[in-house]
Amino acid sequence: LVRRAEQQDTKAIQALDSAHYLHPFTDHAGLASRGARVITRADNIYVWDSEGAKILDAMSGLWCVNAGYGRKELADAAYQQMMTLPFYNSFFNTTNVPAVQLATKLASLAPKVGGRSFEHVFFSSSGSESNDTNVRMVRRYWDLLGQPQRKVIISRNNAYHGSTMAGASLGGMGGMHAQGDLPIPNITHIEQPYFFENARPGESEADFGRRAAGWLEAKILEVGADKVAAFIAEPVQGAGGVIIPPETYWPEIQRIVDQYGILLISDEVICAFGRLGHWFAYEKFGYRPDLVTFAKGVTSGYIPLGGVMVGDRVARVLIEKGGEFNHGYTYSGHPVACAVALANLELMERENLVGRVKDDTGPYLARRFAELKDHPLVGGAETCGFVAGLVLVKNKATNAMFDADLGVGMICRGHCFKNGLIMRAVGDRMIIAPPLVMTHAQIDEMMALIVRCLDATL
Ligand code: PLP
Repeated sequence: LVRRAEQQDTKAIQALDSAHYLHPFTDHAGLASRGARVITRADNIYVWDSEGAKILDAMSGLWCVNAGYGRKELADAAYQQMMTLPFYNSFFNTTNVPAVQLATKLASLAPKVGGRSFEHVFFSSSGSESNDTNVRMVRRYWDLLGQPQRKVIISRNNAYHGSTMAGASLGGMGGMHAQGDLPIPNITHIEQPYFFENARPGESEADFGRRAAGWLEAKILEVGADKVAAFIAEPVQGAGGVIIPPETYWPEIQRIVDQYGILLISDEVICAFGRLGHWFAYEKFGYRPDLVTFAKGVTSGYIPLGGVMVGDRVARVLIEKGGEFNHGYTYSGHPVACAVALANLELMERENLVGRVKDDTGPYLARRFAELKDHPLVGGAETCGFVAGLVLVKNKATNAMFDADLGVGMICRGHCFKNGLIMRAVGDRMIIAPPLVMTHAQIDEMMALIVRCLDATL
């Protein structure tokens, strides 16, 4: 009886869902025929649907629930801040204590690579807004330096930088550009450093990494070095399918941006806050960004918050030469979001989540995930901290891919859904980004599920 009642609820919710709720990135006609799966509660690394099914969430929601679900201290921090000061923005000569404390904390967490530090933070509510802020800030910077012709921002194909007009333009997703006349002017793209797809026969990863970075130099010369404002990139491309660059890529990118004096923006909306085993991912690859985008993991997704870490090179110009920067959001420095972020960062420090991913659970995941290379469907399987991706191939000997129309990634994702596992499909790449609290035993549990779903896809 109980089960039947739950099912009725599910049907009723699905009917209202399809009648009223326009979902992001969704084909509504297709969804209406199936009915959306209704997720009702969560704890630790699991979510439950309205039918009572328990699902291991190997995607941390959307790459954000780093501390896992059900963390009471984050709810308490929100409650207390709401009762003390639920809202006051840092506009118009005011400030609020959680925003100050969080900016101070983030400045202390941002590693100083090559002597560059990040003493300032600009807050927003999302990754997309933060990248819009980057575009405004970069243009303002060059205007203030008397080089207003430096407007062009170079990004990469298959990058994801958000869904606003500027975010989607910076991103390199053809499907997004096709809807709405994007990119906006002065944004251009180079090819991504995807060894599996873009390497020449016989080319080593190291050589490919240097060649892929060279596409940036070629683009700078094509556009004209005096017109280029910045290069933006994710340390590891996330939504594009967990594309991990060869080790030679970032050092060469750093050499090129230094040589031409252009700003470097590291979009760490996914990669920061322990995802790659560091507080900020630029430290892992050893490069020196001028601006760092963050969101998601800063609050473990419990409440929306994003922002830009502003390095000294840009901050000095904005502050000393700038006057008023006509840019900001109602929710910039929202006290409740900042209080939750502070509680989340404290929790992550107390439980050493970043160190665990770097030295313990990350290497363990890497070992276990590499075993998938023996599976008949898997052409390659790599991890970087707590992100991982594998590619499904038709022929292991030649790495020949399946016909795209077959949608083998979506078939595999369907088996995951049925078997109680959330794994994402990007074309024929299957990707994960598990909560950082995952234990060795839970990694084993996830790996057994992944193998079961791959077997079912065969
Ligand atoms: N930048 C990167 C690297 C992302 O992965 C995302 C979202 O996945 C964004 C920006 C956009 O963030 P949001 O969805 O919070 O606007």
